[in-house]
Amino acid sequence: MTDRPLLNARANKSLGQHFLFDPDILDRTALASGPVDGSVVIEVGPGPGGLTAALLRKGAKAVVALEMDARFAAALREWPETREGRLHVIEGDALAINIPDLLEELGLEGPVRIIANLPYNVGTPLVVDWLKAGDWRGQMALMFQHEVAIRLCAQPGDKHYGRLAVLTHAVCSAHIAFTLPPGAFRPPPKVDSSVAVLLPLPADEKFADLEAIEKVAAAAFGQRRKMLRASLKSIAGAMGTDATAWLEGCEIDPTRRAETLSQNEFRALARSWRQQVSKLA
Ligand code: SAM
Repeated sequence: MTDRPLLNARANKSLGQHFLFDPDILDRTALASGPVDGSVVIEVGPGPGGLTAALLRKGAKAVVALEMDARFAAALREWPETREGRLHVIEGDALAINIPDLLEELGLEGPVRIIANLPYNVGTPLVVDWLKAGDWRGQMALMFQHEVAIRLCAQPGDKHYGRLAVLTHAVCSAHIAFTLPPGAFRPPPKVDSSVAVLLPLPADEKFADLEAIEKVAAAAFGQRRKMLRASLKSIAGAMGTDATAWLEGCEIDPTRRAETLSQNEFRALARSWRQQVSKLA
């Protein structure tokens, strides 16, 4: 590792900087979504580069590292893999970078894996973008604060089941690979962290109309304690129908609550919503 010095820089809290240095944890994170040899990997927030080095060591064909902190971007550009064309360091805000355009510019073909120890403050908007991103994106292994990872992977009936899980399961299968205590990081965050693994569903099992499923899930979970016939009253009204009739038409008992609906039931509601609004258009 002498040719890839990890910069020992002071952490910037506003950039969510909590670093990992344990080689075993870094290897587990790198491989959580499966072997990376031959893969193109996007890493958001390489920081001092512990995970970047693990990805390269495990045989990633190329790592595209998006980093907002100029100190780390500059240090990573000194690594031999940058000169060799295996490491591409892009300095900037990952939320503002158009990844398909970037891949094209770099001459890299998808699907790409996304593997990252994400900054807490932008983890959720980034993953929502990637869930909606389409086919350039492959398997993902993402370190989040534990609660966000649980919300992504939750199943019907779980306390944390909500809009994020419905969106996730429309396009991916999801599970938590492992959880780390605050002491695994420098400096330690306040809460546990977990790696969520999101594996894209086969094309014929994905639900394409994400706008519709999000719309229905937002309405249903907007008032999650209420029965669906009440929580969906307003969206049903906008479709020119009554929530009870709509739910019964989709073979869903109107007295159930959002947290009990399966992915297939959300899909049925989303299809029916789309049909109705297309008729009204
Ligand atoms: N991967 C490193 C590790 O595991 O030790 C660092 C992870 S640290 C939790 C998050 C990293 O994301 C930091 O290096 C931070 O500078 C970077 N970062 C924060 N916000 C960002 C953004 N919007 N776009 C790109 N990088 C960002």
